[in-house]
Amino acid sequence: MKLHEYQSKNIFSKFGIPIPKGRVATTAGEARQIAEELNGRVVIKSQVLVGGRGKAGGVKVAKDPQEAEQLATQILGMEIKGLPVRKVLVDEAAAIDQEIYFAITNDRAAKKPVMIASAAGGIDIEEVAAKTPEKIIKIHIDPLLGLREYQSRDIAASMDLPREYWRDFSKIAANLWKVYQATDATLAEINPLVITKDKRMIALDGKMIIDDNALYRQAELAEMRDIDEEVPAETEARKYGLSFIKLDGDIGCMVNGAGLAMTSMDVIKLFGGEPANFLDVGGGAGAEKVAAAMRIILSDPNVKAVLYNIFGGITRCDEVARGILTAMGEVKPKVPMVVRLVGTNAEEGRKLLENANMITAETLADAARKAVEAAKKGM
Ligand code: GDP
Ligand code: MN
Repeated sequence: MKLHEYQSKNIFSKFGIPIPKGRVATTAGEARQIAEELNGRVVIKSQVLVGGRGKAGGVKVAKDPQEAEQLATQILGMEIKGLPVRKVLVDEAAAIDQEIYFAITNDRAAKKPVMIASAAGGIDIEEVAAKTPEKIIKIHIDPLLGLREYQSRDIAASMDLPREYWRDFSKIAANLWKVYQATDATLAEINPLVITKDKRMIALDGKMIIDDNALYRQAELAEMRDIDEEVPAETEARKYGLSFIKLDGDIGCMVNGAGLAMTSMDVIKLFGGEPANFLDVGGGAGAEKVAAAMRIILSDPNVKAVLYNIFGGITRCDEVARGILTAMGEVKPKVPMVVRLVGTNAEEGRKLLENANMITAETLADAARKAVEAAKKGM
C-alpha cells in the first residue's frame, strides 16, 4: 500500500526526521489560508500516488498567498498520469542548496534491507542511476543488528557530504531505519533530502510503501489507504479477500493459488495471448467468493474470454462450479469461457457445468490454447 507524501512526512516527523511546516488543502481557498498562516513563500504540491509530479508540473513555488491560491486552482484541476489531483500539500518553501537522495528498501536478492543514497538527488535520480550508477551508494543492513552508526557515517563520507552535516545525517538515517522497521515498510524514501541555504537538513519529499501482508498489525496505517487512488476492481477484490491485479490483456483468469495463477498467465502468453488480470481466489474458496471474482473479471470491458484453471485440493471443484453458476445467473457473461477442473470433486463440478455452455479442457496447455483461440474468435 502506497502512502501519500503528506502521510509519509507526518510519519517521518513523528520519528524525529525534520520536515517543512505545512498542511493539506482540498480547495484553493484553503491553500491560500495555509499560505497566510505560513507567512511567506510556499510550495504547492499535488498529492497523487505516482512519482514524477515535479516534472509533470504538479509541484510549484508561490511567492505569496495570492499566487498560492492561483497555483492551487491550477494544480487541483490537473490530472497526473491519469490520476485527478484531489488534494495539495501546502508547505513552507525551502531555499535549497543541495538535493540528496536517501531511501531504505528491501533487496530481495540479498535478503536484506538496503540503504541507498546519492549526493545527486532530486527529480533526475532515475537518470543518475542509469547513466552514472557510481553516484548511487548502497549499504545493506543486517536485520538483526539493525543500522550501525559507522554505516551512516560511511554513506555520508562516500557522498562527500561536508563534515558539519554528518551528525544530522546519521540521526536522520537512524530515524528512517526506525520508521522502516516500525511501519513494516518495503520502501521509505526521501527525495530530496535537502541541505538548505541556512544549513538545515530537511526531508522535502516523502514516499512510503507498506507491506500489504503486514497491514493486519498496522491498523493505523491501514486506515490511511486512499480508495480514490485505486483501480475500483482492486478495491472490490480486497473486500472479498481475493488477490487481484488488473493487467492490460484480454483473457480474464480465475485460478486458485498464486503460483498456479502465474503459471496460467505464462502459458496463455506461450500460446500468443495476453492475460487481463492476475487473480488468485485462494485455497478453499466458496461459491460466494468465486462469484465475486467472476463479477470483477467480467467488469473489465477488455475481457474477450475467461480461463478458469482450478486445481482442487482444499478447494472443492463443485463449490467453484456452483460459484460460476451463481455469477452466470447475475452477470450473464457475453464472452466465451474455458474451464479446467482437476482434483477434489472435479467430476461433480464438471457435471454441474455440463449445461452451462462452457468450453472444457483437460490440461492447462489445452485450456490456455482454447482461451487464446476463443478470445480471437469471440462468441
Ligand atoms: P516529485 O517530483 O514527485 O518527486 O516531487 P518533489 O516533492 O520531490 O518535488 C520535485 C522538485 O521540486 C524537488 O526536487 C525540488 O527541486 C523542487 N521543490 C520541492 N519543494 C521545494 C521547495 O520547498 N523549494 C524549492 N525551491 N524547490 C522545491
Ligand atoms: Mn521527490
